[in-house]
Amino acid sequence: MSEYHGNIFLGFGACMSKGLIPDEVYFTYLCPPVESNEDGSAKYAQLGTRKIEAALYDYGFKPEEVIVAHPDHLEKAIGPETRVVGLTEHDPLGYGPPTSTFTQILGGEAYNVHKFKEIVNHPLIQQHRPKIILGGGGAWQLLDEKLRKAYGIDCVVVGEGEKVAGPLFEMAVKGEALPPVVRGDVASVEEIPLISGPTICGVVEVARGCGRGCDFCVPDMLRYRIFPLEYILKEVEVNVKAGRKPILHAEDVLRYGAKHLEVNEEAVIQLFSRVRQHPGVGGVGISHFCLSSAASAPGVIEKVAEILRLGEADGQLWLSGQTGIETGSPELAKKHMRGKAKPFKAEEWPEVVVKAFEVLSDNNWVPCATLLIGLPGSTEKDSELTLKLVERLRDYKSIIVPMFTVYNDTTRGYFTYDQMTRVDGELFLACWEHDARWANMLTEEYLRTIDPDLAGGVKSVVSYTVSAINNLIRRCRDEYDCNIVKMVQDLKPKGGEEPPLPQIDLWI
Ligand code: SF4
Repeated sequence: MSEYHGNIFLGFGACMSKGLIPDEVYFTYLCPPVESNEDGSAKYAQLGTRKIEAALYDYGFKPEEVIVAHPDHLEKAIGPETRVVGLTEHDPLGYGPPTSTFTQILGGEAYNVHKFKEIVNHPLIQQHRPKIILGGGGAWQLLDEKLRKAYGIDCVVVGEGEKVAGPLFEMAVKGEALPPVVRGDVASVEEIPLISGPTICGVVEVARGCGRGCDFCVPDMLRYRIFPLEYILKEVEVNVKAGRKPILHAEDVLRYGAKHLEVNEEAVIQLFSRVRQHPGVGGVGISHFCLSSAASAPGVIEKVAEILRLGEADGQLWLSGQTGIETGSPELAKKHMRGKAKPFKAEEWPEVVVKAFEVLSDNNWVPCATLLIGLPGSTEKDSELTLKLVERLRDYKSIIVPMFTVYNDTTRGYFTYDQMTRVDGELFLACWEHDARWANMLTEEYLRTIDPDLAGGVKSVVSYTVSAINNLIRRCRDEYDCNIVKMVQDLKPKGGEEPPLPQIDLWI
């Protein structure tokens, strides 16, 4: 549970292999724990956890019966009276695309997996044995009975938790046996209660679901729901009171208020204006948006930039959000993500991406984009097309994160590093080069807006990492013909019982 100094995209750092940089540096400069209250509760918690907390109150639990506990202070929260512990897990076993990509290439165990194991093995949980209910976006990773038993999980909730949390927690409190797996139904807007405590980085949900239907995405995304403005403003208020600027969360913030896949310009502009004008709001962030929405509604991008006064001395520097490029191959776009390109044709996808980046860059939006390596049916030619697309994006201020394709239905298999071709290796290096190029500037700009005491430390860590990455990229091209895995294997220290990861400074 970290706020990443307010930069939610540093959350990708949780997917890093533990040991790559010293823990003290990691937990001070990249992922410091959230603040805690005297009673051991967390001051800020994941939006999902806050929604479950609200669902429990809605069901009839009293505030004195529930605590959103800070993982570092469980001694204040867990004791002989504790009946049930709920965990919100995004990627508990590290199967998610960013984590599996990092750890397959670099080896070791990711921080998110390490932290999951730490909590289920916590001495107080072992001693008092409360029931454990695990939900969140990564709950599917514990569907397997053997894994559930190995980690002592009593019940896994896959899907949305609001409708099932109350009854399940009540059963646990009464000491009744819990069903090992529960599929949480999709809740209607009326069934999703308002949060009562602030969220990490002030995240506020404006819409849930997506409906574009990419075949690598979770099925729960199919039902699209929009929260009314008044509801959103109430959650903004909870966060503003706690000193957090809001980050508007939806799979595509630009589709707020849309009936179908076209942008509803008026609704999006209303959303940003009303939130920005809300008393106490000094800035607004977003979590995700879709490139086809940006390309199809350049006027909205421009208008939002005006509302937030992006790039102006008295406004925000830029607006950054996560988005999916996934591929530069029209064939793969047609096969796997036809809906993502709408209202354009899937065949036009690479042009849609370039057009969107152009519009965004002109208006001080900074995309943090993902790419999927190894989409089923992908050929070397498809990877070459994606590489060409990344090269065309070179001059747009952005971050591009390449990841192996992972389906959250384990029967559909994984893409593993040993299936990488030379072009895939080149693609990885091109993305990392792109990111190293922009990371220094983005950090410099971002740090101007936050604590100057911290700025020096974070800046040195980023510059140091960028220079190390550039050296590795050069070496991988010159000495290893873009074979990243071979290079990593050669650079790892040999011998010893457990092969620890080399720290970055040993590699250069
Ligand atoms: S556009 Fe994004 S959220 Fe929507 S289905 Fe595709 S991957 Fe999922």
